[in-house]
Amino acid sequence: MKIIMLGAPGAGKGTQAKLIAEKYGLPHVSTGDIFRANVKEGTQLGLEAKKYMDQGLLVPDELTVRILLDRVSRPDCSAGYVLDGFPRTIPQAQVLEKALAELGDQIDFAIDVDVPDENIVRRMGGRRACVTCGATYHMEHVPPRTEGICDTCGGELILREDDKPDTVKNRLKVYHEQTQPLIDFYQKKGVLRVVDGTMDMKDVFEAIVAILG
Ligand code: ADP
Ligand code: ADP
Ligand code: ZN
Repeated sequence: MKIIMLGAPGAGKGTQAKLIAEKYGLPHVSTGDIFRANVKEGTQLGLEAKKYMDQGLLVPDELTVRILLDRVSRPDCSAGYVLDGFPRTIPQAQVLEKALAELGDQIDFAIDVDVPDENIVRRMGGRRACVTCGATYHMEHVPPRTEGICDTCGGELILREDDKPDTVKNRLKVYHEQTQPLIDFYQKKGVLRVVDGTMDMKDVFEAIVAILG
């Protein structure tokens, strides 16, 4: 099963993608996580991506597509995957569609986690991410057992630089201009499903399971 998560930054794509990956035994593929891991390791890719990420802009398609196609061609992705944060532009979606078509394959579901902008800014301010393993928490909704410390690995929890309000506003603008058109794109392909992302996390997940079966 090949699944795409759509939705604004902070809508809960990553949270739901992890739950889906666990329940259905699929790898969770997040381009944001791949970029952040490279930034942390100081690779050439990381240095290049950081220039865009810090401003809330998208990393250029050419670079992003190369990373993603490389990732999904690995053996663990052969039975499917959950894509979180990719595609984010129509050209990215077209490249993915073409790569799959060459294998006689296609996306099964594009799940749009729908959350209005007003909720997003509030949510992002509360998001905390582990610098070591990338796990995500929320100060109100998903607090760690000990403040500032990752439950899973004991790493330090930080507010991501790009989750500060000014950058979030920029990312929302970029989302509406470049990513939202994908909702229409996948609607036309007949694979779009919309869930109300303002519900409790577990209710959002239930709605998704009802779709995936
Ligand atoms: P969020 O989960 O909050 O939406 P991500 O972790 O997915 O954020 O992405 C963080 C940043 O990484 C984006 O703002 C962008 O700069 C870059 N990025 C991630 N995925 C893509 C993509 N598919 N295309 C271009 N840039 C991307
Ligand atoms: P995305 O991957 O779309 O950027 P995340 O999954 O990282 O979004 O979620 C953004 C923030 O909101 C995180 O701090 C997360 O813990 C929190 N969150 C996720 N889903 C919900 C929900 N249904 N209700 C409240 N907070 C949520
Ligand atoms: Zn951690």
